[in-house]
Amino acid sequence: MIFLRPLCRLGAVLLGAFLFVLLPASDAHAGTPVRIGVLAYKGAEAVQEDWSHVRNWLTDAIPDHRFILLDFDQAGLTRAVHDQSIDFVITSSGHYVALEHSDGASRIATIASPWALSPAQSIGSAIVVRNEDARLQALTDLAGKHVLAVAPDAFGGFQIAARDVRQAGIDPEQDFAQLEFSGFPLQNMVHAVRAGRADAAIIRTCMLEQMISNGEIDASALRVLAPIAVQGFRCQTSSRLYPDWPIAALRHTPAQLSKQVAIALLRMPATAQGYSWAVAADYQVVDTLFRELKIGPYAYLRQWTFEGLLRLYWGWLLLILAVLVIWAVHTVRVEYLVSRRTRDLRTAQEQQRLMAEQARVHQSTLDHTARLAILGEMASAIAHELNQPLAAIGNFARGMARRIAADRLEPAPLLDGASEIVTQSERAASIIRSIRTFAQKTASEQKSVDLITVLEQAITLFSGAHPHAQVSWQPGAVPATVMADPLQIQQVMLNLLKNALDAQQAAGRVHEPIEVQFRIDASSYCISVRDCGCGLAPEQFTRLFEPFFTTKPEGLGLGLSLSKGIIESLGGTLAAAANDDNAGLTVWFSLPKEEFPGAV
Ligand code: ADP
Repeated sequence: MIFLRPLCRLGAVLLGAFLFVLLPASDAHAGTPVRIGVLAYKGAEAVQEDWSHVRNWLTDAIPDHRFILLDFDQAGLTRAVHDQSIDFVITSSGHYVALEHSDGASRIATIASPWALSPAQSIGSAIVVRNEDARLQALTDLAGKHVLAVAPDAFGGFQIAARDVRQAGIDPEQDFAQLEFSGFPLQNMVHAVRAGRADAAIIRTCMLEQMISNGEIDASALRVLAPIAVQGFRCQTSSRLYPDWPIAALRHTPAQLSKQVAIALLRMPATAQGYSWAVAADYQVVDTLFRELKIGPYAYLRQWTFEGLLRLYWGWLLLILAVLVIWAVHTVRVEYLVSRRTRDLRTAQEQQRLMAEQARVHQSTLDHTARLAILGEMASAIAHELNQPLAAIGNFARGMARRIAADRLEPAPLLDGASEIVTQSERAASIIRSIRTFAQKTASEQKSVDLITVLEQAITLFSGAHPHAQVSWQPGAVPATVMADPLQIQQVMLNLLKNALDAQQAAGRVHEPIEVQFRIDASSYCISVRDCGCGLAPEQFTRLFEPFFTTKPEGLGLGLSLSKGIIESLGGTLAAAANDDNAGLTVWFSLPKEEFPGAV
């Protein structure tokens, strides 16, 4: 034990000698040898002197074994632990924590000192300064001073103080004017400060008090710098406190033996000076000190090597790695899904395009068929219409021939006749032209068209084919452009007019006017066709736009469903309603203005 006063040491030696004499068989008989390695910071002799009472107690308490004390310096003790040439180790708290890291040393008991209430708070550093040195009041005052310490790896003699000094804001390795490691014996450092050869000395707690009580130094000459009050701790300390030395078992030490030794030590009575063994303390605080100062098992933290970083931040690195892996997997998965969906989408778009193309071709065929059907229905009326100009041409030609035969060759009547023939033939040609245009099989083509003109052409065509029908139509001279295929609009209009005429014929009102009205709304044009025909029964009304629904013997039942399809494809609507007076039907359709495509 390192703080035994000489008297105590003498007591221990006497006790050891007494036991040796009383129990010669203990050492003499050949029990299993158990080697206890002890840190001999004061030399081999001091080890035997300080620890023989422990050896004797154990030998006595565990009779089958023979306990042997072996002294080592710190490096030698470390080697002995590595080589498994010892079974137990008694060493400083700092060295023990290093051995715990490197070799799995495991404490079984901690020294309980008389000056501390708890073995866990038993060792600290006292920074000794001259009493009269008024410059030194706080730890920060050590900056720029000449400071003595035992050795860089001395726990109480340097490392403990270094942590507190560093936390006060001073780097012991940088900020002192001089940091001098002067080794053992510690007393020399105290004397050096007393003599003014240094400003301060870092020593173990209680050592100054021991020197004063030994009379080695005058109590008024020195003081402890920035003392901290710790309840129940009898010495002055400049630092926080740490656990005292432990005795530790090693990896290869038999568990049963460790248990026996621990029990025996805990049963050991206190020495006359008050030293005893207590249940092993928690050395985590020592570990924290090493980590903070980056020394001992944490010395690697001073070098920014990959291994150092790995050991320090392996948890975070693992987390980052995991996040990166998850992110990469996620990205690859998203990429794969996106490319797969893009492919699917393209295929679907292509299919949709093909279907639209087929529908368009189909629609165009249907349109053409419907137009031909309309023409077919109008054929006799058209023939009648063409007949008129042809009959007129014949009449004029015959009249002119008669005049020539009678030698009545006045130019004026002949010219009149010729010009009538030209007029009538042009009329016939115009009828044929519009029929041909309407019957053409052309692909639907949307362009900007004047709706009024297109509607007028349809009404003219219809009126030409049905001279007996009356169409009332006063649109006025308003510009009304839509994006559409003019043929399709004509087709719709001819359908509605033809249906209106058929209904009026069925009602016997063929000569009553069919009213075509034109209205302009905010974003669309609305065209309605109102007749005073037979109307529709409610059950027929619900089927009005069904393909192949017809009430006519010669009907196809396609006109309205096709018309509705055409108008809706242009962004408009087509609907019908019975007239308020219950006579006839009004069918209307709307088309978006060119500047509002699809806005109806
Ligand atoms: P179709 O004229 O060949 O019969 P449509 O699709 O044009 O084919 O018309 C379907 C049916 O709707 C007609 O047969 C008729 O019964 C009814 N219909 C259409 N328009 C009118 C109308 N203005 N008045 C009364 N019934 C109508």
